[in-house]
Amino acid sequence: MIDFVIPPPPQAVVPVTGGGMFPVRRIFCVGRNYAAHSREMGGDPEREAPFFFTKPADAVVIGAADCPYPPATRDLHHEMELVVAIGQGGADITVADARARVFGYAAGIDLTRRDLQAEAKKTGRPWDMAKGFDASAPIGAIAPAAAIGHPAHGRIALSVNGAARQVSDLDQMIWNVPEIIAALSRLVRLAPGDLIFTGTPEGVAAVKPGDALAGEIEGIGTVLTRIVA
Ligand code: MN
Repeated sequence: MIDFVIPPPPQAVVPVTGGGMFPVRRIFCVGRNYAAHSREMGGDPEREAPFFFTKPADAVVIGAADCPYPPATRDLHHEMELVVAIGQGGADITVADARARVFGYAAGIDLTRRDLQAEAKKTGRPWDMAKGFDASAPIGAIAPAAAIGHPAHGRIALSVNGAARQVSDLDQMIWNVPEIIAALSRLVRLAPGDLIFTGTPEGVAAVKPGDALAGEIEGIGTVLTRIVA
C-alpha cells in the first residue's frame, strides 16, 4: 500500500467498442504526416522524417463530452487524426512486427492553439503549450484490431456544424502506422496504454465556442465534441 500524501490522480481512460476501458499512459503525436497538410503549413513533404510531440494523458476527452475553449489563444484549430492504441510495448520495433503491438484504432482530434504554435516555431521554443493543454485530445471509442483488422486506407473526415472541413484517406499518410511505430520506438520504449495521434490531412481551420465537431474514419469510428465557452 502506497502512502500517498495527496489523492493520486485518476487514471485517464478511453472506452473500447464492445466493452471495457483502455488505460492511457502517454499521448504521442506525429507532426505533418499528410503531404497536402504539410504544404499548407509551409513544409516540404518530400524530405521530412517523422517527428513527434506529446500531450498529457489526461488531455483526453471521451464520450462526446464538451471541450472548453482554452485560454491564451484566439486561433484554436481542429486536426482530425487516426489514433493508434498500443497494447504491447517495446523498443526498436521493426516495421514488420509493428502491427502486432497495436491493440486498436480510434478517431481523435488534435486540438491546437495555432497562434501559440506559430509563435513557438518563430522563436524556436517548445510546442507544449500549443498542443498539450487541458482537454486538447477529444477521442472516440477504440475499435480493437482483433475485430476490425489494421485499416491502411479508408475515408477520414471532419465536419464543423455539418459543413465538411477535412476529407482525405488514410492511404495519403506520408508515414504509415507500422513506420510510425518503428520510428517512435527508436526514440522511446513504447508501453501498453500509449496512444499515437498519426497526423492530420489538409483543411485544418479555426473553431469557436458553440461549434459542433464530428469526425469519422471509415471502418473505425467517430469522434464528437462541442466547443464551449
Ligand atoms: Mn496533429
